[in-house]
Amino acid sequence: MAELILDSVSQSYGTRQIIADLSFSLPEGAIGCLLGPSGCGKTTALRCISGFEPIQTGEIRIGGEVVSLPDWMLAAEKRRVGMVFQDYALFPHMTVSANVGFGLRSESKAARQARIDELLILVGLSGHADQFPHQLSGGQQQRVALARALAPRPRLILMDEPFSNLDVELRERLSLEVRDILKREATTALIVTHDQNEAFALADWVGVMHEGRIQQWDTPYNLYHKPTNRFVADFVGQGALVTGNVINDHQVEIELGVLNGVIPVECGAAGCGECVRSCHVDVLLRPDDIIHDDDSLMLAEVENKAFRGAEFLYTLKLPSGQRALSLVPSHHNHAIGERIGIKLAVDHVVAFRRE
Ligand code: ADP
Ligand code: MG
Repeated sequence: MAELILDSVSQSYGTRQIIADLSFSLPEGAIGCLLGPSGCGKTTALRCISGFEPIQTGEIRIGGEVVSLPDWMLAAEKRRVGMVFQDYALFPHMTVSANVGFGLRSESKAARQARIDELLILVGLSGHADQFPHQLSGGQQQRVALARALAPRPRLILMDEPFSNLDVELRERLSLEVRDILKREATTALIVTHDQNEAFALADWVGVMHEGRIQQWDTPYNLYHKPTNRFVADFVGQGALVTGNVINDHQVEIELGVLNGVIPVECGAAGCGECVRSCHVDVLLRPDDIIHDDDSLMLAEVENKAFRGAEFLYTLKLPSGQRALSLVPSHHNHAIGERIGIKLAVDHVVAFRRE
């Protein structure tokens, strides 16, 4: 239970830089998530934090204590950091109870048993204490792994793609359960995943990573609604970019009409404090920014559609040929090729300087 701070951390394998200038701070008791595509350096970042990998620049602090510097690192076993892996890594020949108690060997028998009992209740596996890992489902095994990591009351829990071996439905449920367990133990935790739904379900703070760098460290809400660059806009959530021209400091015109927003702040181009009249931008439209309205005179052609149960996700071709997405209640079942009425419902403009 301690805060985690990374300050300008870089790491290389040989001459190849894997993570660059990584900085973020995770408050005590908060759940953070590093979200990014495969190969972007998430596992490497966790290995640096856990003390298995040296760093070349910057520093890492846990609970105010410096644990990594370029020429020095505190040994992994002295960091009081708990790890949970993708493949659970339980001891197959030990019972659930023995697995959970593994890190508590130095405690008295009574204290150890009390902590095991408490954790098995916390993760909902009280009835499974004497079973072996192979007798449990994947989701149950992962909860044992979490209980084992929590048992010695580490300052920080690190989890590397903890749900990726589980099927999609279970993944979402378990993300919420794990969030609940971590919050009840008031544990600071950093979780790594490539799955946005998992990150959003679990984390208070999410860092979107790309090629070894954090692109944006923010709340899930802000990542979706206020992405600071194109990579984040594209990686988080669905949407499409359409061309626009800035009219003045709070209005931008796209082919569907004029949008009101705080353009200078949102443009995000390096060195651009103020988009000016006729500045060319790309405007992000999310699927809920365009609503279907049979009475609207503004028309777009249905180019594709995906049934989502309660809604259709339509891919629309706008008059200019640009594409946009729209989420439409599924009783509006329109055919591909049909032209349907649409309306803008943008309450927050996100624009990027056109390259
Ligand atoms: P992620 O977890 O985001 O998928 P990793 O941190 O595992 O990414 O890997 C980032 C990059 O570092 C990859 O290109 C990978 O090939 C490389 N890499 C990882 N481990 C090593 C290693 N021990 N030696 C050399 N390169 C490595
Ligand atoms: Mg990885």
